[in-house]
Amino acid sequence: MKHLLSAVVALLLLSPLASAQDEVVHKLDYDVSGLNQGLVPDRLTCDLHFHMTKEGNITWEKVLELLPKLREIFEPTGIQFRVASARLIEIPEAWHTHTPKRGDPPSDDRSSFYALPGQMKALAPATERVFKAVIGKEGPGAELSVHFISLRSVQTGWWERDSEGKWGYETAGTSACSFPPYLFGKSMPARVRGAITISSKWISSRTLAHELGHKLINVSHEGVGRAPKGEQRGPDDLMIYGSGTRIPSGAEGRFQLQRVQRSPFLYRTLAGKRQFNPPYREGGHYWDPVYRISAAEALWAETPPKDTTRRKRSGLKDALSGQKSDQTGPR
Ligand SMILES: [Zn+2]
Repeated sequence: MKHLLSAVVALLLLSPLASAQDEVVHKLDYDVSGLNQGLVPDRLTCDLHFHMTKEGNITWEKVLELLPKLREIFEPTGIQFRVASARLIEIPEAWHTHTPKRGDPPSDDRSSFYALPGQMKALAPATERVFKAVIGKEGPGAELSVHFISLRSVQTGWWERDSEGKWGYETAGTSACSFPPYLFGKSMPARVRGAITISSKWISSRTLAHELGHKLINVSHEGVGRAPKGEQRGPDDLMIYGSGTRIPSGAEGRFQLQRVQRSPFLYRTLAGKRQFNPPYREGGHYWDPVYRISAAEALWAETPPKDTTRRKRSGLKDALSGQKSDQTGPR
């Protein structure tokens, strides 16, 4: 009996459900000590972690090349970046390929582009598992940092109306991809909210800045005189496709500068202690009260839907467009 008991205990000890985190093999840490000189303690700061993979397409040397210009792009916002960690890891082959979870088309009475949070249910479960495993539980400030993860093939998808007003689901490969917090709201676990994927070595500092913009400004693709859309191009603004780096201010600039400065990912170091901006109060949707200044004033350019919780679903048929884009770009 004693033997049997010991055998059971040994089995229990030896075969705990293998955690996905255990499948991440840590190969080495890169030296980041020289990368944070000149940071100013009381300046708004964002911590960046880089999870480079052995099988990924981008090298740490390439990231080092891109960092100075990335910092320059955010200079006018008063935000600085601290490279908190950088490491090389090895992950299972299957973790390198990601496709989006399509879900249902948005309801027909959607009054605003940003009225998505009730409709985008969640990240694809496999993607969420990989993000969780790579970021880990204990990482310093994991929930309030941005995590760049090098993965070989990441596809994204979004619903867009065609010329006849029918919803179609578009997909595209990405060279880099960042989910704005508004997109998933509370359905995205806080500790994967800061994940940004990099899948190509042909990216620029502007690409990294654009992806950080999705995270920190909490918007999709929009700019001065440009309402948000799934895809749009132009010469000026950081948050549309193109070469611009402007993060515009005030109502004309859709409050992008003011929103980024309120990002819960940012902190100042005061008397040796980090003081983070207030956290999202309603999961980080586009109209989260964290962007409210007073009863009359708020930092959002879209009109809030009248009642996000009771909006009825229209029961639209799943009108898959069938048109797949083969373009691989930053998203
Ligand atoms: Zn984008």
